[in-house]
Amino acid sequence: MTTPFVCRTIEEIRAAVRQARQQGKSIGLVPTMGALHEGHASLIRAARARTDFVVVTIFVNPTQFGPNEDLDRYPRQLTKDVALSGKEGADAVFAPVNSVMYPEGYRTYVEVHGMQAVLCGKSRPIHFRGVATVVLKLFNIVQPDAAFFGQKDGQQARLIQQMVRDLDVPVAVVVCPTVREPDGLALSSRNQYLSAEERKNALVLSQSLAEARERIAHGEREGDALRERIRDRINATPGAEIDYVEVVNLDTLEPLSRLSGKVMIALAVRFGSTRLIDNVQIDLV
Ligand code: AMP
Repeated sequence: MTTPFVCRTIEEIRAAVRQARQQGKSIGLVPTMGALHEGHASLIRAARARTDFVVVTIFVNPTQFGPNEDLDRYPRQLTKDVALSGKEGADAVFAPVNSVMYPEGYRTYVEVHGMQAVLCGKSRPIHFRGVATVVLKLFNIVQPDAAFFGQKDGQQARLIQQMVRDLDVPVAVVVCPTVREPDGLALSSRNQYLSAEERKNALVLSQSLAEARERIAHGEREGDALRERIRDRINATPGAEIDYVEVVNLDTLEPLSRLSGKVMIALAVRFGSTRLIDNVQIDLV
């Protein structure tokens, strides 16, 4: 257990990284919005295993939230997050306030065309523009050798990979497996919004995806059939309202009617005002 150095300004985190570089250390970055759980912890451990100096960023990025989303109620618990980061071996925490990331007069945004308006982007039109922008800013601030993302946000990880490739950003993007509760629910900072009843019903996400994976293992290759079966299960679940269920090519995020190659089955489901996402990825080559 180390106590990470908490940086609130760009100058402070740059100085900490510079010092680590001078000692010949490689730099790992784990971008988060805080309210850290075991999913985030697994990314910090992956960063620890691959790089010498691990920076966790904690920033609830306002530009990725739409006007009617949960920016204001998103959980904030910096002291706890710093302790957890330290326990998992982070060396520094970068936790800027909004005006550090978006000072007066801020004007530049990053867009990944063809990938930002599908899946989650349909109901969250500005979300991925905000994500790509803040992640590129964090890459420029920290200049890591490698950055660690969760498969849980499958579209986000793919979009960041695309941005890094298109803009020649010298960062290795590492995508780590989704961490789940023992009963299968993917860990999410938003799970704490769920009532006991919703928490129970939310199992339909992981269970319907697990069933789809089984059906594929047994030879199912029709995207529509898989999608409809998942939709039926979710529609039969009290309180569950489908945002989307999609079967897509993992590289392009385009819908697949016949499954082949790298496949992602992704879904978003609302329980009341809480929106949960999950996905499975299957390599058929
Ligand atoms: P967030 O704080 O929700 O923005 O997530 C920060 C990072 O943690 C992202 O790369 C997420 O994909 C990752 N993450 C969130 N939940 C999980 C999970 N259950 N398993 C693995 N990674 C996760």
